[in-house]
Amino acid sequence: MWLATNGKSDMQMYSEADVDAAKLNGKRIAILGYGSQGKAHALNLKDSGHDVVVGLRPDGASWAKATADGLQVAAPRDAVKGSAIVMFLTPDTVQGQLYGTVESAVDDGAMLMFAHGFNIHFKQIQPRADLDVSLIAPKGPGDLVRRQYQEGHGVPCLVAVEQDATGNALPLALAYAHGIGGARAGVIETTFKEETETDLFGEQAVLCGGATELVVAGFETLVNAGYQPEVAYYECMHELKLIVDLLHEGGMKKMHEFISETAAYGDLTRGPRIVDDHVRAKMKEVLTEIQDGTFAKQWIAENDAGQPEYKRMMQNDLDHSIEVVGANLRSRMDWLEN
Ligand code: NAD
Ligand code: MG
Repeated sequence: MWLATNGKSDMQMYSEADVDAAKLNGKRIAILGYGSQGKAHALNLKDSGHDVVVGLRPDGASWAKATADGLQVAAPRDAVKGSAIVMFLTPDTVQGQLYGTVESAVDDGAMLMFAHGFNIHFKQIQPRADLDVSLIAPKGPGDLVRRQYQEGHGVPCLVAVEQDATGNALPLALAYAHGIGGARAGVIETTFKEETETDLFGEQAVLCGGATELVVAGFETLVNAGYQPEVAYYECMHELKLIVDLLHEGGMKKMHEFISETAAYGDLTRGPRIVDDHVRAKMKEVLTEIQDGTFAKQWIAENDAGQPEYKRMMQNDLDHSIEVVGANLRSRMDWLEN
């Protein structure tokens, strides 16, 4: 395996001991949005003893949920007034418009925060000069951010500061990460550029785009060769979890300890023929489109048009026969949360 850095790194990682959690004392935190991340951040910060208000549209479905969870809720402009921190946890596609709505109500010298750098990096939000702008990006979905916190653990986070008007942005962002449990696992310093570009690349090439296309291509190869779709489903989709769990817990080493020698030999000799130089060249192409703004431009235009292509392609994905076969088999495993 060739690594440009030879594995060396100048990574800066903060742990709980490096964080002054008291930086948040007496400071109100507005969480805008109550979806996957919003719910987890709001509840974790509240349980950590902080003053939290959730900013939501009064007619939206989340208002009742956040209220029922015991949180203080207000319309976005009311939530940001008097808050020292304003965290944007709505979908990325509405954050620009939402910032326009709340900007004039945000206190002087407050800090805008994000869990993903898209809107700052691609200049969909151009913050007022008196504000701090930082990022705490948990490297996991919201339900895990909540569950790990409740279990006394935490999801690792990235921290970045884009604008440091007060000179206090980094310690304050770290205190926020501490409040959601992220400092327990470690907080790595990055930039908005690095977080945005690597996050988009990961979800496009490996985690979402890459993994699902690999699964579907494997399923289709088996089914087209005459094998039973149910057997192909177990092989190509269901069993992926076993491998991913082993990788997550103990890397390649743990996976190789648990799979058979035959599986390992097949992996070592056949894997590089599947993910070959052609795939690596395509990955580089996808990365270049992220770096030069092509992807962002396309996604912003798609949203401006009301997401017609997005909806069409999503429906195609959901109509695929692997979904029909999978739904049937999963219904027999009632312990799965489907
Ligand atoms: P989500 O889609 O789960 O949540 C959206 C919530 O925003 C809704 O529940 C609603 O309460 C609110 N909302 C929607 N439109 C609104 C509007 N116009 N005004 C006010 N509120 C509105 O979002 P999410 O997946 O939690 O993502 C939030 C942010 O976190 C994004 O920046 C995303 O990139 C980032 N992030 C997400 C994950 C993840 O696993 N989901 C992981 C890391 C970072
Ligand atoms: Mg991600």
